[in-house]
Amino acid sequence: MKLISQVSEVHEFIDEYRAQKNTIGLVPTMGFLHEGHISLMQRAANENDKTIVTIFVNPLQFAEGEDLSSYPQNLDKDINECEAIGVDLLFIPSSEEMYSQPILTSVQVDQLMSTIEGASRPTHFSGVATVVAKLFNIVGPCNAYFGEKDWQQLQVISTMARDLSFRVKVLGCPTVRQSDGLALSSRNAYLTPEEREAATVISRSLQVASENVQAGETSASVIKSQIVDEMTAETLATLDYVEIVEGSSLQTIDQITEGARILIAAKVGKARLIDNVNPYFGIK
Ligand code: AMP
Repeated sequence: MKLISQVSEVHEFIDEYRAQKNTIGLVPTMGFLHEGHISLMQRAANENDKTIVTIFVNPLQFAEGEDLSSYPQNLDKDINECEAIGVDLLFIPSSEEMYSQPILTSVQVDQLMSTIEGASRPTHFSGVATVVAKLFNIVGPCNAYFGEKDWQQLQVISTMARDLSFRVKVLGCPTVRQSDGLALSSRNAYLTPEEREAATVISRSLQVASENVQAGETSASVIKSQIVDEMTAETLATLDYVEIVEGSSLQTIDQITEGARILIAAKVGKARLIDNVNPYFGIK
């Protein structure tokens, strides 16, 4: 595995891969890798000749007062995990390398960025889309793997790639969970054991909602208020939002249909956690 930090080095390796007609799988991450990331990396490795993983805690996607400076890191462990999976190129740029000049350009994906998570974090998705656009340009044509865990992010990136004609196929991968349902997240590291236990309320309420939908309840307002009740009963969790939307347009819906998505954000201790489900599938 090649461990590199310069954009110019990525170009050199990519040119070589392309000359050999290799297909390329890209997995952008912020590091502190867990089984969710690993599932993306494994899929990329299975489906492509060469796998590139990036680790970059992107300052653009954090607002003032968020956890940029305390975001968990364990680079040695991450490097070992990538090596064990058979990653070919691990790109770990510094902020100076990615943003050597003050960045004047940003990517906006109208309508998809300002709702749900974007209503709570107004600058977040523009930061995400801008860094992902940079990575897509640095790597060039490839298959790029993103988790459904960050459902709205996946819609933003898929739409950006389509609208701006990136030669990148954006592929969504299922959410990996712990056995009690909690979605894996680097931010779970912030939880005390008590908070970790309490955090299961998020996936539990998504699962109960899914069972109710599957039993025939299709009113979004009824399902929403059931989730609010369940979340409110857990005193260690503070619900930020629960939204029920059409899965790709992210438009709010009144009646739950097959393409629906239920999204939740909640604060548990220091961690702000997000999760989502298609209620006709439930959490798996
Ligand atoms: P992050 O390091 O949090 O930016 O995540 C990097 C990628 O891993 C994103 O595409 C995430 O959606 C994905 N990811 C994070 N957690 C999970 C999970 N539990 N299951 C599947 N993918 C995930």
